[in-house]
Amino acid sequence: MKTIYKIKRLLSEIRSFGYMLINKKESLVWDISVTDVCNARCIFCPYQYKKPTGRVVSFKEVEKFLKIARIFNVKKINFTPLTGDALLDKDLLLKGKLVKKYRFKSYLFTNGIRLNKFSCNDLFSSFDSIHISMGGLERGIYKKTYGVDEFDTVFNNLKELVKYKEMTNSKVEIHIEFREISPYSFMKAELYGQVKNWIEKGLIRVGTFESFDSIHETINLPFMNIRSKPYLLALRKYFPCKQLKVFALMHNGDIRMCNCVTSDPINLQSDDLLVGNIKDTEIGSWKRILEDKTKRSRALWRKNKIPEQCRACTLYSPAWANTKNIG
Ligand code: SF4
Ligand code: SF4
Repeated sequence: MKTIYKIKRLLSEIRSFGYMLINKKESLVWDISVTDVCNARCIFCPYQYKKPTGRVVSFKEVEKFLKIARIFNVKKINFTPLTGDALLDKDLLLKGKLVKKYRFKSYLFTNGIRLNKFSCNDLFSSFDSIHISMGGLERGIYKKTYGVDEFDTVFNNLKELVKYKEMTNSKVEIHIEFREISPYSFMKAELYGQVKNWIEKGLIRVGTFESFDSIHETINLPFMNIRSKPYLLALRKYFPCKQLKVFALMHNGDIRMCNCVTSDPINLQSDDLLVGNIKDTEIGSWKRILEDKTKRSRALWRKNKIPEQCRACTLYSPAWANTKNIG
């Protein structure tokens, strides 16, 4: 399985390299990070060093962001954390439905701990795809990686989602994304038989993270491949990162490029990836502001003036590649 995955990844990188050379278009995906509060304490995440404000992005701010996204012909909105879990927002499902009302695909990324606070029917009508991150398929390893004793809750929540999908024959996708101390150890766990059965029935897809970011060496966990360079094309940062085309609405209304790397807890002078706050500017003006920011940043990058956040970042990827699905 590992070898097949590696070959698939290599082919994907080669194909993406071709896309990168000819690809001038904007990103089809933008992100919303609804809150900066989380109910886990993952050892690879900068959340452990942050002082969360508890602010949740408002419905009005989300709607304005969606109107801007429409101008850019965005197709998909990810509710994804930087850093915090989206399901801690009690109005998340309404926001998910709003995204669908605006005819975007609505994707949820979560640690899955609070999925049982919502009905499957509601979740399935708010999102087109639900991605659950897990620290493996064993309670002890999960606890060590995610810092909380919630493995059973998450796995039971997952089971409920899968059961509901099978029962309703729903097209909503369910993904498990493993973030493990030792990559692929989920395949050795007892529960893997059950997961494999779901994969074979087409009920879920599974992916694994092989590398994480060190947040400017704040986090140093060599056994999790933090500080490594995951991508073939990332050996040198010749090309601007693809994430410079992905705009994200943050919990406080800020709009940033890239929803992968936060400025906290890095003690940087400024946040080079910050564009402004959604409240400060009218919808019509955002088109020029975002286009200018992308153009300027990419031009600076080509002159080797790389934003501070990006210099040490190991999540850097210059091409549009989906390289981690293995089932
Ligand atoms: S990785 Fe996600 S689930 Fe884990 S602490 Fe960070 S925000 Fe929370
Ligand atoms: S290099 Fe890292 S911080 Fe910079 S845009 Fe890419 S993913 Fe984001």
